Amino acid sequence: TAQAWARDLVRTYGTGDAQVRALDGVSVEFARGRMTAIMGPSGSGKSTLMHCMAGLDRPTSGTVVVDGTEISSMSQRELTRLRRTRVGFVFQAYNLVPTLTAAENITLPLDIARTPVDRAWFDEVVAAVGLAGRLGHRPAAMSGGEQQRVACARALVSRPAVVFADEPTGNLDSRTSREVLTFLRRSVDDLGQTVVMVTHDPRAAAYAHRVLMLADGRVTADLDHPTHREIL
Ligand code: ADP
Ligand code: ADP
Repeated sequence: TAQAWARDLVRTYGTGDAQVRALDGVSVEFARGRMTAIMGPSGSGKSTLMHCMAGLDRPTSGTVVVDGTEISSMSQRELTRLRRTRVGFVFQAYNLVPTLTAAENITLPLDIARTPVDRAWFDEVVAAVGLAGRLGHRPAAMSGGEQQRVACARALVSRPAVVFADEPTGNLDSRTSREVLTFLRRSVDDLGQTVVMVTHDPRAAAYAHRVLMLADGRVTADLDHPTHREIL
């Protein structure tokens, strides 16, 4: 069954002649234990789709279901809780708190939601992301790749239904990109997580099981294990 799905999503901005249809009727399912890359030209609706799926934005019409719960009808308060506990985020900018250690940054969303940390899972995530010796370091003492791996661990620590990653390698050199992508993929293959990633980089998309192409607010292709040629 799908970890998250959407039906007939429309998201418009503005009114009248200036109206933009960022999403123009998108229906999509994200299956458990799969990594999906969303690709498409700038302005095609990738971020809007991800934000609607993750409860960061509300569609103008249509249905979004995450982890069996319809989030399109949730209150702001319920959405905030969903974002802290049921959904994980990895952004292009790592958004770590400079005064906290890696370990404190990783557990921050759960601490804010006053949700206990599952120590066995925490250890598994930290080991998978290769941060075991670095937990006491603050962001300033870590490389960009390490900081992004802390951000990945933070996204996973609640064992979320879905991890959403928005251009997670956008700021990283190619070696560090490969580390982060390898980890995101391993979180799917070894830890059973579900990952949805927006990227414009075909080399990043190649790590996904599936590539969804958007153009003008619509899905134009849905490819399983695409070849390099298909995503260029
Ligand atoms: P992508 O992530 O593929 O670059 P976006 O989802 O950011 O695309 O944007 C889709 C369309 O919606 C674009 O035309 C963009 O200009 C428009 N858009 C996105 N956010 C806003 C906003 N807050 N206000 C007005 N227009 C927006
Ligand atoms: P070069 O410097 O040889 O042009 P890079 O260092 O950019 O190549 O990349 C080396 C290898 O890593 C290539 O096979 C490339 O496909 C892969 N690669 C580079 N950047 C990324 C990325 N952002 N995501 C995934 N794979 C990448």
